[in-house]
This record gives sequence, structure tokens and C-alpha cells, in this order.
Amino acid sequence: MIDKLNRNIEYIRISVTDRCNLRCIYCMSEEGIENISHEEILSYDEIIRICKCVANLGIKRIKITGGEPLVRKDIVKLIKEIKLINGIEEVTLTTNGVLLYEMADDLYEAGIDAVNISLDSLDREKFFKITRRDKFENVFKAIDKLIDLNVRVKINCLAIKEHNFDEIAKIAGYSKYNNIDVRFIELMPIGYGKKYTGISNDIILGLLEDEYGSFKKVSEKRGNGPAVYYKNDYFKGYIGLISAISNEFCETCNRVRLTANGFLKLCLHYNKGIDLKELLRSNITDEELENTIYKAIRNKPLGHNFYNDSNIENIENKSMVQIGG
Ligand code: SAM
Ligand code: SF4
Repeated sequence: MIDKLNRNIEYIRISVTDRCNLRCIYCMSEEGIENISHEEILSYDEIIRICKCVANLGIKRIKITGGEPLVRKDIVKLIKEIKLINGIEEVTLTTNGVLLYEMADDLYEAGIDAVNISLDSLDREKFFKITRRDKFENVFKAIDKLIDLNVRVKINCLAIKEHNFDEIAKIAGYSKYNNIDVRFIELMPIGYGKKYTGISNDIILGLLEDEYGSFKKVSEKRGNGPAVYYKNDYFKGYIGLISAISNEFCETCNRVRLTANGFLKLCLHYNKGIDLKELLRSNITDEELENTIYKAIRNKPLGHNFYNDSNIENIENKSMVQIGG
């Protein structure tokens, strides 16, 4: 569907939980967050109802996220059901990969279209320092398993000066020998992310060119969002750069978000949106629900303003684990 600023909104990120089995330093404290109670979290029936409404409005692609989506019971069943909804062309998942190895076959059978795996280090000790959990082997094994199953895989690496500056080229090397894309994401000053220094995409490209020679920008579209892709002649896969900070892409933003407790978020940076849980749990008809979502999406804000937000109202105070990334 088209919003008031003429953007085609055809992608939704649905967070299915705010629980997580890692404690990434830029996302959570060691103690974790105060979790939403089970009653507050949308049931699968409620999520399916929203998916049907947004599909009628023109949303074509759905990303399942969290917290860590694979910790929610019967998540594969939900994915299978969403895949059957008319109008939904693609269902993908973003995960930390900890439980992925053991769930890969079921996800494949459910028809998952692609999986994004977050991985910020290829060094076990550093992985532990960043995530506070010793789970590197699980993630490593899962990537190979998905490649064997021929599932489209992307590695998402959050580039942080204090932690993985010296590993950027090595992580990119994953796509030299494998047909998978490695994407570097600029750190956003949200929640604990404010405590660290991101690495701009220009610097990343420089590091990669120093190591591997020249990368050419490609024009083909390779995913749901704003990543700009580059190719090196000696690489099997592509390198993606996601520059929310250095190269704002709000004018072409195509997405909205649904939090685990049913809040339809229209922009990452603002807490504005609508509480769909309240509506779902009233006697609202599907038609009324669809109309309400339509009106909200039409009024999606122009964009974020991360480094100049002191005088702006409705700034989001939640952390990424509560929003879904
Ligand atoms: N647990 C899953 C995972 O880690 O992929 C899904 C949820 S996680 C919140 C989604 C993504 O948000 C991860 O790739 C993570 O690196 C990213 N993220 C978390 N905090 C961030 C920040 N401050 N800036 C940019 N990305 C962030
Ligand atoms: Fe968990 Fe993902 Fe946040 Fe890491 S980034 S703590 S894996 S939700």
C-alpha cells in the first residue's frame, strides 16, 4: 500500500517474543529486560489475523524477528501458517542462530524463504564478550547446515569500533568462499547501542578494499530493505552495507513493525503507532481492523532523526530486543 509520502509499504517485521537466549551488549544488560507477561504477548491466532489484514492491504513480505524468534514454542507452525496466506510472497527469519542447527530441517520443510543470521565475530572468545554466552559453535554449525539445505542465508554483522573493527575483513571473507551475502549494519544509538561507537559504511568498504581489492556497487535488488550491495570478482556472494546513520534511507522506507505485544510501529525512531492487541481483544471486525491499520500506515512518519532528537516528541525509548530490530 502507498503511504501519504508516496512510499510503497509492502514489508512488515513481526516480533514474536521479547525473550532471548543471548545478551548482546548493545541490546541488553546481563540481567535482560523486564519481560512482557505471557498474556500480553500476541497469540499465534492474533498474529495470523493481523497478517491476513496486512496482506489484504498489500504487504507481501514478512520477517519474523524477536527477541530471539526461535525460542518461542511452535514457531515453525506459525511460519507454516503464514506461508499459506494469500498475498504473502515471502516469509523470512532473523535469528541469532543459537537454536538454528536443530531447527533447520523443520524450517526448511515449513518453506522458510531466507534466514538472516546475526553474527558479529568469528572468534569464540570475542563472540562470548559481545553476546555474554558461549554459543559460537552453534551459530557456526547452523550456517553450514543452511548452506547444505540450499536455504538463502545472509549474515548480518553489527560493526562496532570497540569490538570487531579488526574482524570486518575476515567476516566479509565468509562470502568469498560461500554463495551467501554478508551485510554490515551501522550501529544505531538505540538503547544500549548508545554506549558504543559504530563504524560507518564508508570505512567498512575501505577496509574491505584494502584486503580484497575493488568492490563494485550492484543495482540488483537482493532483499527486503535498504542494503546497498557490492561485488568483488573473486567473491561468490555479495557484501551488503546498511547505513541507517551515514546514508539515511527514510525516503524509500517500505516497512512497518509489529511488536510482540501487538503494537504496530510505524518508524523505528518513534513510539507512535497503534495498539492492535487492544483492538483484537475487543469485538472489532476484520474490516474495521483493516481500516484502522490502513489509516495508521498512511500516516507513517517521514523518517528518523537519531542525532538531533532532543526537542522531538514521541521518541522511542525501547531497546532493540523489544522492537525487533
Ligand atoms: N535475536 C535476533 C537477532 O539477533 O538476529 C533478532 C532480533 S535482533 C534485535 C535484530 C537485529 O538487531 C540484530 O541483527 C542485531 O544485531 C540488531 N541490533 C540490535 N541492536 C542494534 C543497534 N543498536 N543498532 C543496530 N542494530 C542493532
Ligand atoms: Fe538477543 Fe538479538 Fe538482542 Fe542479541 S541482538 S540480545 S540475539 S535480541
